[in-house]
Amino acid sequence: MSRPLPSSDRTKRSRMVHIHPIRTGSVQFRPTQIRASGQGHMRWWRILGDREWTREMPIYCYLIEHSEGLFMVDTGETARVCEPGFFSRWNPYFSRAIRYKVAPEDEVGPQLQRLGFDPADVGSVVMTSLQLGHAGGLSYFPRARIIVSAQEWALAMNGFGRFTGYPASHWPKWLAPRMVTFNAGQLGTLPRSQPLTGDGAIYLVRTPGHTSGHISAVVQGAGLLYFFAGDASYVRAALAEATADGIAANPRQQIKTLKAIRDLAQSRQLIYLPTHDPDVERRLAQRDTSAD
Ligand SMILES: [Zn+2]
Repeated sequence: MSRPLPSSDRTKRSRMVHIHPIRTGSVQFRPTQIRASGQGHMRWWRILGDREWTREMPIYCYLIEHSEGLFMVDTGETARVCEPGFFSRWNPYFSRAIRYKVAPEDEVGPQLQRLGFDPADVGSVVMTSLQLGHAGGLSYFPRARIIVSAQEWALAMNGFGRFTGYPASHWPKWLAPRMVTFNAGQLGTLPRSQPLTGDGAIYLVRTPGHTSGHISAVVQGAGLLYFFAGDASYVRAALAEATADGIAANPRQQIKTLKAIRDLAQSRQLIYLPTHDPDVERRLAQRDTSAD
């Protein structure tokens, strides 16, 4: 991971961005979650009956240094997921189909401090989704503008959220996110976008499918785009193949979203950065824009 830009460089490179991937522990899934097996409810039974585990996969969030301030994309996971009682026992998915390894020092707050940043200086936090693995570090950002899609917030708050991966009872009481409105047209064939910075270098796009309120952040760097995909797909291979995951709210919509991102990656230099892909740090270091 690289160091923060010195302040003199920050002025000189006012239109530059600097990206820090932050790995907040790891998670193992059933392979049938990464790539769906079957259709409809059958996908769930296949996950619950799967005896294999994936390797430990990272839980990334990202810090973006930009001349208009510090932006986070997602907040990673909290170490509390490893404590007994965090998940209700009756839900077989949490007892049988997912394994977390997150230590207190893996959380985003201590990691930002180790990189030389104060979490209190982060101005905006973009939530690609509010599900587990993304919203676990919210408590470190009480002063930031927390940005989420209105659909995602409704899903988390509709009374069924705790059954579908939104542990809202564990979120900070002060949480009152800003809803993104999406009124700035398209990005390639991706449906709707919204700029986040005055210079237009950071913007948000709708990437529905994994959840219906899922969004991604796009950053214009020097000669290329950084695409912060959240769980649009778990890994880059699923983008190349445009395959749905096993718990996607709408698999058809997810495939459509992935094809739109793939089209974009074929017309622009783009570094694809999902939350759980083990290869993102290498891809960033080598500026690897290949999409396969
Ligand atoms: Zn995730």
